[in-house]
Amino acid sequence: MTPPGKSIELRIRRQRHRDAAAYWETFSIPWRAGLNIVSALMAVRDDPRNQNGHAVAPVAWEYNCMEEVCGACGMMINGRPRQACAALIDDLSQPIVLEPLAKFPVVRDLLVDRGAIFRGLKRVRAWIPIDGPFDTHLAGAPISPRDWETNYLFSRCMSCGCCMAACPQFSDGGDFIGPAPLAQGWLMNRHPTGRWSDRERLHGMMAEGGVSDCGNAQNCARVCPKQIPLTDAIAALGRQVTLRMLRDLLD
Ligand code: SF4
Ligand code: SF4
Repeated sequence: MTPPGKSIELRIRRQRHRDAAAYWETFSIPWRAGLNIVSALMAVRDDPRNQNGHAVAPVAWEYNCMEEVCGACGMMINGRPRQACAALIDDLSQPIVLEPLAKFPVVRDLLVDRGAIFRGLKRVRAWIPIDGPFDTHLAGAPISPRDWETNYLFSRCMSCGCCMAACPQFSDGGDFIGPAPLAQGWLMNRHPTGRWSDRERLHGMMAEGGVSDCGNAQNCARVCPKQIPLTDAIAALGRQVTLRMLRDLLD
């Protein structure tokens, strides 16, 4: 724990834009009780001077809810993908090293483009089509409390990208969809109404870069701030995809 009167040292990997060279800059701010990384970055923003006292461009980063729900403030904190709002200064060893979330293109400094998650969600059609003048079959079918509990666990995904940053198979521009979109596709397949469109979802997941590209290293589940059992979903999806392939052969 950093005692009062002492300072906090932040070593930040900076980059002016996606193609610019990265560089490191260190900032020193006064310690205050209860500071998290977002409030420390706010202190830097209030007086953007590096450790040598030189005025520099304010550090860019993203945050919104401050309660680990929106997923916006994901970054590498001392080498681990985490939410900056939930990372308390007193729990971290110094200097605190902040880097942009791995695997995602840098927009500026600690701000990254997490578009790959949303493209992945589209690839697996992670939604349930219930609008429109068509028969939704089992709409409103009851869900058992046990299934509801599991579904709720997965519905807490905030698209923060921490699991993708930790996944050795996922890369910016690579084929692999990544754990978060796969788990959300699986969640939609579990819903009684979503089950009627699971064919399209499963086709998205069995295409190149789909579920079979997962190497089962389990890094994703270890870093998820919401403790979502991603590898359980991926394993279950593997079985669904195999079944779908067999059905496709018979159809
Ligand atoms: S288990 Fe699969 S999705 Fe999770 S980190 Fe490993 S390769 Fe990535
Ligand atoms: S599964 Fe967890 S780590 Fe991955 S995007 Fe969702 S909340 Fe973040």
